[in-house]
Amino acid sequence: MNVILFGPPGAGKGTQAQRIVDAHGLIQLSTGDMLRAAIAAGSELGLQAKSLMDEGKLVSDDVIIGMIANRMNDDDCKNGVILDGFPRTVAQAKALDVMFAAGNIQLDQVIEIQVDEAALFARIENRAAETGGARSDDTAEVLEQRLKVYHENTAPVLPYYRDKGQLNVVDGMQSIDEVAAQIESLLSASA
Ligand code: ADP
Repeated sequence: MNVILFGPPGAGKGTQAQRIVDAHGLIQLSTGDMLRAAIAAGSELGLQAKSLMDEGKLVSDDVIIGMIANRMNDDDCKNGVILDGFPRTVAQAKALDVMFAAGNIQLDQVIEIQVDEAALFARIENRAAETGGARSDDTAEVLEQRLKVYHENTAPVLPYYRDKGQLNVVDGMQSIDEVAAQIESLLSASA
């Protein structure tokens, strides 16, 4: 099973992806986590990505697509993946289609987690407090920019999947358990 988790920053994609990993033994591919690992490792890619991420801007499609294509080649991804934070542009969605077609891999579902925008600021503020500000982009100022990028570049990916009949929506304003249950029922329908 291959699933895309979709939603604005702070929607809970990472939290829900972890639940699905635990329940279904899929591999979580979070482009944000991969970039943060590159930054921590001090790699060239990390150096390039850091300033963009700190400004709430997107890393270039080429870099991101290459990173995902590489990782998808690993054997552990053969059983299925949950994509979290990718695709974030229509170009990335199209590149993913090409990648899946070339590998004869099926995309089962795109699940959009919908959350009221006002709630996102409180959630990001909470995460910053809980993690001691571990993510330098978890500030109200950078979140505003991340949301702007979400509306301009990422939201247009939704009609791309809706038109193909692959999009499902869950209400992300419910509790973590309720959101997880809703996602689970969508997944079991395509399992
Ligand atoms: P969130 O969804 O909470 O905003 P992520 O951890 O998914 O955070 O991403 C953090 C940052 O990493 C983004 O603001 C962006 O700079 C970069 N990034 C992550 N995924 C992508 C992607 N698919 N394309 C371009 N940039 C990305």
